[in-house]
Amino acid sequence: MKYTLRPTAAGRDYAAELNPEQYAAVTTNARHALVIAGAGSGKTRTLTYRVARLLDAGVAPWRILLLTFTNKAAREMLERVASLAGMGAGQIWGGTFHSVANRILRLHAVRLGYQPGFTILDGDDQRALFRALVKQFVGKSSKNDRFPKAEVLQSLHSLAVNTGRSWQLTLRTEYAHLDKHEEVIGKIYEAYAVRKKESNAMDFDDLLTNLLRLLQAHEDIRTDLQGRFLHVLVDEYQDTNVLQAAIIGLLAGGLDTSLMVVGDDAQSIYSWRGANVDHIFEFSNTYPDAEVFKIETNYRSVPAILEISNAAISNNTRQFAKTLRPARDTGCMKPAIIPAPDNRTEARFVAQRIDELMAAGIAGKDIAVLYRAHFHSMDVQMELTRNHIPYRITSGLRFFEQAHIKDVVAWLRLLSNPRDEIAFRRIVSTFPRVGEATASKLWENWFAVADAWLQANPEATTITAPHSEVFAAVKVPAAARPHWGGFLASMDDLHPADKVLTPAELVHLVQSFIDAHLRASYENYEERLEDIAQLTRSLSDAADLDAFLSQVALLSEDDTQTEIDPDCVTLSTIHQAKGLEWKVVFVIFLGEGLFPHYRVIQSGEMDDLEEELRLFYVAVTRAEDQLYLSYPRYNGHSYDSQFCPPSRFLTALPPELYELWNL
Ligand code: ATP
Ligand code: MG
Repeated sequence: MKYTLRPTAAGRDYAAELNPEQYAAVTTNARHALVIAGAGSGKTRTLTYRVARLLDAGVAPWRILLLTFTNKAAREMLERVASLAGMGAGQIWGGTFHSVANRILRLHAVRLGYQPGFTILDGDDQRALFRALVKQFVGKSSKNDRFPKAEVLQSLHSLAVNTGRSWQLTLRTEYAHLDKHEEVIGKIYEAYAVRKKESNAMDFDDLLTNLLRLLQAHEDIRTDLQGRFLHVLVDEYQDTNVLQAAIIGLLAGGLDTSLMVVGDDAQSIYSWRGANVDHIFEFSNTYPDAEVFKIETNYRSVPAILEISNAAISNNTRQFAKTLRPARDTGCMKPAIIPAPDNRTEARFVAQRIDELMAAGIAGKDIAVLYRAHFHSMDVQMELTRNHIPYRITSGLRFFEQAHIKDVVAWLRLLSNPRDEIAFRRIVSTFPRVGEATASKLWENWFAVADAWLQANPEATTITAPHSEVFAAVKVPAAARPHWGGFLASMDDLHPADKVLTPAELVHLVQSFIDAHLRASYENYEERLEDIAQLTRSLSDAADLDAFLSQVALLSEDDTQTEIDPDCVTLSTIHQAKGLEWKVVFVIFLGEGLFPHYRVIQSGEMDDLEEELRLFYVAVTRAEDQLYLSYPRYNGHSYDSQFCPPSRFLTALPPELYELWNL
């Protein structure tokens, strides 16, 4: 009998599966390399093949670092690598900057003055903390004085950190209207830093700044990591901010380390979060030995879509000159522009067309509806529901930021970090009759005891003795008394003396503790239970509680969808659709003032307008076979509807490139 072995990876013909430009990048030995090319040209594919090839060549997986825009993207790339290279890619470090920072800081945060087992605050926690601080420093007068809301304080803070500028400068340049509040804002930011530190917590931005600080200030750790990583690869480099660029420089700073970054300046869409397209423009200046690779073939889209994409982006002034030729030549339905009388009719069009396409055999998972802002999706959501078309939506609240999920997670956070003020407050505020004042009092008393216990037991990372004993002496305000004993007993149940419970067991227990609260607080109780069950299902690979909690904080909405339902249509903001592709793409709400946004139009800032156009370019380049561009002539409901001309991005397109569909 003849038994055929699968070809080994070493036998794989890389040149046959890549074009010459891609192949050159995959195989280069350059110490620094930049791949810069338009959408759909195979940049991500190039990185994936390069990793596979490195493994083929015998590079140990743990010596490779792959930085991507989402954790899901990393996971998918590594699965692909495993199938290409015919071996496990499990030990490769892959993920977002935040998740890699978390991984390193888990090992070394003590060197920066943190206690072991720090907590990560997500956006929702951050807002909660700012809200409490506004209350403390401004009090009731905040409304009268038009004192900025927690959300604004959060954005200003974050933008300053991510652009590496002081918040004062950021305030003066980008938030000038807040001028008169500068002094109080300063006090709030100071208190914010103190409260985080006391809670042994880092927000997302701290993950980056702390990693950078760690690498800069601690030579031993830096040298160790530089010796570890032989290859650093970065996707979507056009959207890195100054902290990330510096982190890359340090992590890839070993003399034997190679660095490859790939990106497309025309797809830089995160400047509002501090990303700076200059990093990709100046890569060759930063690394004078850098080899630059360009890819000029587009594999994603049919020629008609590629033509319209190229025409759209040609109106931007500042860009690397790029030509993109289509590799595909079939299926030339021209992109359609659809003016709808109003937003409801636009949604009806989208739903009806999707229905037809699915009836014609196109799977729901190959269809996406994209928009600039989450609320633009509301009418389409309603219409799809009415038509029984299943969809999944990746914009809006993150799965883990939903209230009921946070109610459960708060207990686990407090279990792992007794200094976590936000988690503590969340738990006690679910006790009937406990208001803000009582919660504050309780927190002070709790914190004093917890802190003393941890000081007395320096080898413990969290409280290991029964909570009912440790906190027996805490003074409890009358309002909280009926629930306090039960709370401590429940905490005891979460860490029995004889064994360590798994994250799934913990979630299950907490859910039973707070069942009454869940029933009373949420009308769709059953669905919420489903979500909580999903929480453990999607994170079942977390080794321990800390790993579980890091994942909860760092994974994005998309990461929690373990399996993609083939029938489900995707609804997504354009920002979150970066790097992805679908056979059929609808871009909706393309009215002037909606997209580009009227605020950008009014400000007249060229940079901002160009970013809007890049966002439009990202949207249209997601489509493989069919592209529908629609807008509502009237937007809103009868009493407040606004007339809305077509977006300038549509009117700028040469008419011969599209077909007009009149409804
Ligand atoms: P984006 O700018 O949107 O991130 P990209 O440049 O990263 O796009 P990829 O997503 O890597 O592009 O590739 C786009 C599509 O083209 C994918 O489906 C990919 O598999 C396919 N593709 C890329 N290169 C080739 C090739 N040489 N042969 C066949 N298909 C290819
Ligand atoms: Mg890509």
